[in-house]
Amino acid sequence: MVVHRFAGRVPRGGTLPHPGSVTSILPHRTGPLRRLTLLFALVTVAFAAPATARGAPQARLSWPLSPIPAVTRYFDAPDTPYGRGHRGVDLAAAPGQQVLAADAGVVIFAGQVGGRPVLSVDHDGGLRTTYEPVAALVPAGEQVYRGQVLGTVLAGHPGCPVAACLHWGVRVGVGFAEYADPLAFTGEAGEFRLKPWDG
Ligand SMILES: [Zn+2]
Repeated sequence: MVVHRFAGRVPRGGTLPHPGSVTSILPHRTGPLRRLTLLFALVTVAFAAPATARGAPQARLSWPLSPIPAVTRYFDAPDTPYGRGHRGVDLAAAPGQQVLAADAGVVIFAGQVGGRPVLSVDHDGGLRTTYEPVAALVPAGEQVYRGQVLGTVLAGHPGCPVAACLHWGVRVGVGFAEYADPLAFTGEAGEFRLKPWDG
């Protein structure tokens, strides 16, 4: 009786499923379709992103790594100035990878902050970008252009799930006291770049 359900699905020259596998076959009818839908969504995103970027005005900030990296940890605005949170985004990198200026500006700081090697650049419009941990190749006071190599990525950023992560921050406001989400300035939705990390 149950076998009738599969009468139309048996491939030519194929065999009927073993009765014992009847229950296990039903979920498979949705599995591949769901995977196909997901794949289609990802492909759509992959092709839609460059298409919309073409001809669009230049983003306020460019990515500090090339090619565009995976985001391993997103911005998490702290509730209070000293509260918990994540004051930037972590970008997957290789140790020694070049760190690029997100926009033209002046290197305002290159040195240690609490034992962490940090580099900061001030840009027009009251924007400051920070990069860490970075081995700086440019000194404070240096004028840099957009995309200029500022230094190289070092391993060791806390919570980094890959070989090295560049922690990229954006500060705005009076005295650059406020932290903003860097991805909001790149003109791209960072979620599309998120990749699952298993460990
Ligand atoms: Zn971080």
